[in-house]
Amino acid sequence: MARIVMKFGGTSMAGTERIRRVANIVRRQAANGNQVAVVVSAMAGETDRLVNFCREANALYDPAEYDVVVASGEQVTSGLLALTLQSLGCKARSWLGWQMPMKTVSAHASARVASIDAASMISAMERGEIAVIPGFQGVSEEGRVTTLGRGGSDTSAVAVAAALKADRCDIYTDVDGVYTTDPRIVAKARKLKAVTYEEMLELASVGAKVLQTRSVGLAMKEGVRVQVLSSFVDDDATPADDLPGTLIVSDEEMTRILEDGHMERQHVTGIAHDKNEAKIILTRVPDKPGAVAHIFEPLANASINVDMIIQNVGRDKGETDVTFTVPQSDLARAQALLEDKRGNIGFNRIITDSHIAKISVVGVGMKSHAGVAATMFQALADRGINIQAITTSEIKVSVMIDEDETELAVRVLHTAYGLDAADEAA
Ligand code: ASP
Ligand code: MG
Repeated sequence: MARIVMKFGGTSMAGTERIRRVANIVRRQAANGNQVAVVVSAMAGETDRLVNFCREANALYDPAEYDVVVASGEQVTSGLLALTLQSLGCKARSWLGWQMPMKTVSAHASARVASIDAASMISAMERGEIAVIPGFQGVSEEGRVTTLGRGGSDTSAVAVAAALKADRCDIYTDVDGVYTTDPRIVAKARKLKAVTYEEMLELASVGAKVLQTRSVGLAMKEGVRVQVLSSFVDDDATPADDLPGTLIVSDEEMTRILEDGHMERQHVTGIAHDKNEAKIILTRVPDKPGAVAHIFEPLANASINVDMIIQNVGRDKGETDVTFTVPQSDLARAQALLEDKRGNIGFNRIITDSHIAKISVVGVGMKSHAGVAATMFQALADRGINIQAITTSEIKVSVMIDEDETELAVRVLHTAYGLDAADEAA
């Protein structure tokens, strides 16, 4: 007997008809003799609707009351799923954030899980009752409703899985797993059997939007085995226990999967793209100690995340150009801040460009293999794609290119690293 956490997103919960499909998947998992806890999102679009109500009510809304409003979407779906499970003859009940309780820090609208007291829920599950948990919501030290930030139900599911010491946390979604790259760009993208936490973190943060990034970090910290799989399957589809989706696991488990021959070791696991960054160039910055600190300190204080940074070789007269990227949504704010500090920083011009993309190749295999970056640069050069900036980490190489060349670059690299589906058989 295993203990399994199942999580269903908003698309799977959109309406009573879909909730009935979900209930059937849950019933089958429980019928296999497993203890089951289910974490649910609000119906698709519902949270956006509730956020808009808050804005209409009071543009400067109090985040504590905002949480009361937006957490309600999940209360509805958790109750409906419990009702539907009961109608199928299952024992089931809902456990709201404050009932469990799932304690969080008091940072309303973006709270972090502090602790979960799962004792009562575990006894209920041991008596054969399915636990249904609204994602996204918790309760603060002060006893008030909190929410975990948009997309937070994934994090709820992983936190619950950690508290229950679950064997697996299955995240059911509208894609059937994690792919080598975006299948809408590369038809030959392959579904991965497994990725490591580290790889998934890089893939999630550089634009492969499957899970809330925070949930992956939590899974890594707590050692929760996560599977991403499709909720839109037929009755005769491969059962979740046979792992039809993508597993997100530790390095050690990945090594076992590779040794058992379930998967071939690649230098590059996946390729991500991100069009949501913008480039800023400051020209003729004084080339002296402290100059760069003057640029990035105000940005950090304003919580603007700077990603790629290059300081060009010095010009004469002790000056240099500094280029970096920020999220596109922060570009105007960053520009205003820098203009404001112009005297202190001492640059000549600000040049901005949001028509750029970041392409990243990710893989734990590159830790032990040289030449991954060289392959990338050559493949892009062969197609005349110009590289404007480069950053690397132990398991990632990213380049900045013209946004118009995003799709071409992703396709070229997918082929260059032998990731195309046809290459697998060879
Ligand atoms: N319903 C919340 C949202 O849309 C949480 C979630 O679905 O993960 O952000
Ligand atoms: Mg989501």
